[in-house]
Amino acid sequence: MNVARRPLIAGNWKMNAGGQDACSLALGVVEAARRSARVDVVICPPFTALAAAAHELWESKSAVMLGAQNMHPEPAGAFTGEISAPMLKDSGATWVILGHSERRQIFGETDEFIARKIAAAIRAELYPIACVGETLQEREDGKTLEVVERQTRAFLDELAKRPGFGVIAYEPVWAIGTGKVARPEDAQEVHAMIRGLCASVSEELAASTRILYGGSVKGDNAEGLLGQADVDGALVGGASLDAAGFGKIIDSAE
Ligand code: PGA
Repeated sequence: MNVARRPLIAGNWKMNAGGQDACSLALGVVEAARRSARVDVVICPPFTALAAAAHELWESKSAVMLGAQNMHPEPAGAFTGEISAPMLKDSGATWVILGHSERRQIFGETDEFIARKIAAAIRAELYPIACVGETLQEREDGKTLEVVERQTRAFLDELAKRPGFGVIAYEPVWAIGTGKVARPEDAQEVHAMIRGLCASVSEELAASTRILYGGSVKGDNAEGLLGQADVDGALVGGASLDAAGFGKIIDSAE
């Protein structure tokens, strides 16, 4: 981490913890996050639980922020089953995860489509967490840097329009939900490459963009990852569903 950038820990609940569970988990995170003054904390429940979680955060006067896990790039229209940026804002969200590998792999989202979403989020004043990451096959083929560079370049111009507003999350696909976490030095290598890409646009973009690591982050491995110079926080899946465990990760960023 670098003292110039405020650490960010985001919890991606995926398709878990709806309804009453979302309220209890949100309150658990509020309690866990009270210990830390120096860390930005974001929780990303499923769409249907956003408004309820927003209410809990507001009632408890917490600094914990709310994010969604996806959105459509158009503000409104004939897109059955989709949710737009203005709708997310109406539900109380101020953040949105975009281009998650599950969206890319299971739902066929392309670099171009993800870039459109990132542009739309920024226009709507929603902070995007833009995800990139290589598959196991790509890593074994020695293509990690090439793939992550291609994915990042696709949206870099959008982030450059508002330096420091958007966040990038490096999430190696082979580490997501597998318990196989990247070694801190391997994560750092990719993070440094991403920061270099930002620097090729402007020094301001490089210095202000927070780059998170994601993929099997837990309370007991967070410290090593967050100790790397270009790792500014974490995007946490499985371990964000337990407030105490998520709290431990927040503590590691403090
Ligand atoms: P994980 O998921 O922490 O369960 O590996 C991370 C993510 O998919 O964002």
